[in-house]
Amino acid sequence: MLASPNTVQAATEPNNGLRDGLADPIKVFPIVWYDGRIVQADDVDIHVMTHALHLGTSVFDGIRGYRVGGELRIFRLRDHLHRFRASAEVYGMKLPLDPDEMAAEVMDLCRRIGPPDCYIRPIAWYGYGPLGLVPWTSAPIHLMVLVMPLADFFGREALGEQSGLRLTVSPWRKTPSRSLPSWVKCGGHYTNSVLASSQACREGFDEALMLNDRGDVAEASCENLFLVKDGRLITNDRDADILPGITRNTVLEIAEEIGIPTLIRSISLNDVRAADEVFLTGTAAEVAPVDSVDEMVFASSRAGSVTRSLADAYSSVVRGIHLKAHWSEAC
Ligand code: PMP
Repeated sequence: MLASPNTVQAATEPNNGLRDGLADPIKVFPIVWYDGRIVQADDVDIHVMTHALHLGTSVFDGIRGYRVGGELRIFRLRDHLHRFRASAEVYGMKLPLDPDEMAAEVMDLCRRIGPPDCYIRPIAWYGYGPLGLVPWTSAPIHLMVLVMPLADFFGREALGEQSGLRLTVSPWRKTPSRSLPSWVKCGGHYTNSVLASSQACREGFDEALMLNDRGDVAEASCENLFLVKDGRLITNDRDADILPGITRNTVLEIAEEIGIPTLIRSISLNDVRAADEVFLTGTAAEVAPVDSVDEMVFASSRAGSVTRSLADAYSSVVRGIHLKAHWSEAC
């Protein structure tokens, strides 16, 4: 077992990333799509008896838009919206729009806002109804889309190009999927990530690395983990209680395209210790090199040739410059 976060030299740099900037993002683009209409965010009234407020019954997704010249390119919009629908279905929520209809509303909202690089958050929830545990029989479903500015999630640019992430192994274990399915983005499930991430940040780290209940590595609080060992890319899958991210899938596809061998298998802390390079992937985090996990140091990750080439390729793929142009939809 690794040293506890309390005994480890913690990062001292402030987190200047969007995680701080997100405190009041809706002030930047104050309009939202809500139950079929574009309204001012301040005009949205949410009832005190909202089921999701009491019991965590919301589902959501996170999508990125990148400004490329005069256009906003939205990356894998439909894949995110299909995942959103799948999350909703697990909770018996029948969304009023299908993924294509929602994509049209997202594009319309983005055209009206005209944001720079941004984060798009579709969210659905059970509203005002009896607070029983079977909401689909009586609580109404609400649907909203928010757009917020997003440049560099972890604020690494502010810390200088040479800076990778400092992680700590969380004392909070990832909820097993047989209790809460890890592939479902439900608000209630994320209290597990909130505990892990908050503790890591309190200790001065950038992010928490979570183990599953079997003691294998699962993922970070909202990113997937990749290792590079002897030129091969290694990541785990749903069996490790992860959310199999869309960024993870994109990176695996890029690796195949540029000839980096990949291996999908469970990952132990010893595998992490032995890795040449380590990085995280996520819609918000993109491809984020890891400098250290507690006392394990991977100083080569940020300069590492595999991480670097995947991060560079990812940055052009999301902007529709390179590979799979259909993944990046212009609006
Ligand atoms: N794991 C968790 C728990 C997440 O919340 C996220 C963010 N959606 C990811 C991994 C990365 O997924 P994606 O690449 O689809 O954003």
